[in-house]
Amino acid sequence: MLTKQEALKTYYGYDTFRDGQEPILDNILQHTDVLAIMPTGAGKSLCFQIPALIMDGITLVISPLVSLMRDQVMQLVQMGIPAAFLNSSLTQRQYAIAMERAIAGRYKIIYVAPERLQTPRFQDFVKGTKIAMVAVDEAHCISQWGQDFRTAYLEIPQFVSNLPTRPVVTAFTATATPEVRLDIAKQLQLDNPFQTITGFDRENLYFEVRHPTMKKPPLRSIVSQRQGQCGIIYCSTRKNVEDVCSFLQEEGISATRYHAGLEAAERADNQENFLFGRTLVMVATNAFGMGIDKPDVRYVVHYNMPRDMESYYQEAGRAGRDGAQATCIILYSGQDVHTHQFLIKNSQSSDQLDPQALEELQNRDLERLKQMINYCHSKTCLRQFILKYFGEKAPNDCGNCFACQTRTEDTDVRAEAKLIVTAVEGSGARFGIHMLASLLCGADNEQTQKFQIQELPCFGSMKDYSQREVRDCILFLVGEGYLRQKEGKFPIIALGKPLSSQQKGKRTLTKNGTRAPVIASQRERNQLLTQLYALRDHIAVQKSVPSFAVFSDRIMEELCSLRPHNLMEIRSISGVSAFKAEQFGRKFVNLIVEFDKAQKPPESAITMTDTQDEKRT
Ligand code: ADP
Ligand code: ZN
Repeated sequence: MLTKQEALKTYYGYDTFRDGQEPILDNILQHTDVLAIMPTGAGKSLCFQIPALIMDGITLVISPLVSLMRDQVMQLVQMGIPAAFLNSSLTQRQYAIAMERAIAGRYKIIYVAPERLQTPRFQDFVKGTKIAMVAVDEAHCISQWGQDFRTAYLEIPQFVSNLPTRPVVTAFTATATPEVRLDIAKQLQLDNPFQTITGFDRENLYFEVRHPTMKKPPLRSIVSQRQGQCGIIYCSTRKNVEDVCSFLQEEGISATRYHAGLEAAERADNQENFLFGRTLVMVATNAFGMGIDKPDVRYVVHYNMPRDMESYYQEAGRAGRDGAQATCIILYSGQDVHTHQFLIKNSQSSDQLDPQALEELQNRDLERLKQMINYCHSKTCLRQFILKYFGEKAPNDCGNCFACQTRTEDTDVRAEAKLIVTAVEGSGARFGIHMLASLLCGADNEQTQKFQIQELPCFGSMKDYSQREVRDCILFLVGEGYLRQKEGKFPIIALGKPLSSQQKGKRTLTKNGTRAPVIASQRERNQLLTQLYALRDHIAVQKSVPSFAVFSDRIMEELCSLRPHNLMEIRSISGVSAFKAEQFGRKFVNLIVEFDKAQKPPESAITMTDTQDEKRT
């Protein structure tokens, strides 16, 4: 039988599960219902797809969005997993063929629109088939508390209870408010479900807010600095969309638009062109994005500040779903604030709320808006702001946002220095820097258990800091001579000169300067990358799939760094499954071999290995 680890490697090409994925899989495989809250990009699809592959029988995935279904099925088929979708976008004939194949047991996973569940033909099919799992995607659609309520979702429990044997039922959503969560479990009649919330942090996203007097020049430079990359520009109104889109097009940028005022056919076309990478920049209102499964969006710019942090994080979160670095920038202006205030104050609820309820609602919206404005003016870590807003703990310094990368002011670290020196003293000066940081941060792990340092009084005395911050500070103290790093096999941190000898307990936290110098091999690397991208596009066109369905941007980068010369090497790259390696791995390998041959310097030239090349800066 296929194990979960094998499935991960064989079909997805990954070696390890991400946080939160494994417990979900395990529970499903033990036939426990699951309610999983996972932010966009956390990797929820794999959580139901892998059990679907392992379990005996068919998995039905209920999904509200036609475009999402099609994309997911397309990707599954590219991965060698037999899958199909059943929804209104199929012609009668296509639908009949899909049903026939489903009945013949050709599929392991079937995506189905909720409206199809009760149709006689579908009922016939499920009655005669073993349904192993019903996975409900975008499960918040069943809750009237949520924003995207879909009546057809209410039929799911009835559908499940009419099945000959009850399958495992799993529910997935990115919406985390407690009301909605409870409501999902209740409405779907989940049976004592395993519940889990995956961390909201998206490490690969860089956050920034700019306050330009005019927005178009910075927008132009953001876009043109990212030639060849896909991006989304969100605007608050249709008029802005039109305006910004024409502006970019006039600048010779490959841009298209999306808003509710366009004909459905044009919307679909524009979306498709963006998905397939034929147009690189999408200028859109917030109507765009729900159900867009495009992993290689490298940047999201908000031309106008969104109305609240929930909207912002959802929209910004559409960047970098493939895990590679991506950028999220807001172009803030005071006018955006006025627009939202106006919209909130003039909003009329469709339910004819009584004046008092309406006022409450408006006050809540204004409060949310205030938080959004605070975010835009925050001088401290933006990621920390976001995570705190969503109720998560966060370090003070993430290193991957505008605030953290430009902070240059002097920070008084006398208090921190004292805590660190006390810990070195109190633990008998027997630990290296990592262990010391674990001790100070109060880390509960194998190491700290093994050394029984959890008993020490200084354990966790700096638990509000990240380990990186603490390590930074230790290194600073070493540099200043208050601590010493002993030489030897285990570089232990010991006491240095007494803290009392300190003149001014200041240090400068400059994080700007030290960028790696531009290396000569950078140009060569870019050449190879261009060729690899061209090959990827070529294969994608042949197969009529978007290029990310061939290999993700991250894989392309790694191909370039690793330069695999045979199939075994290419398979060692995370994300390259056996199936894909077999299908087109050879083509990439051949290209790289040829490229390397052409680059080889004449024998006489002395070459130096440039390891910096591999560190992406
Ligand atoms: P979402 O939660 O938004 O549905 P997806 O399921 O689309 O997210 O996953 C987002 C991206 O993360 C995909 O490109 C997927 O291949 C990748 N991913 C998922 N699980 C892993 C893993 N264990 N290791 C590496 N990448 C993963
Ligand atoms: Zn930060």
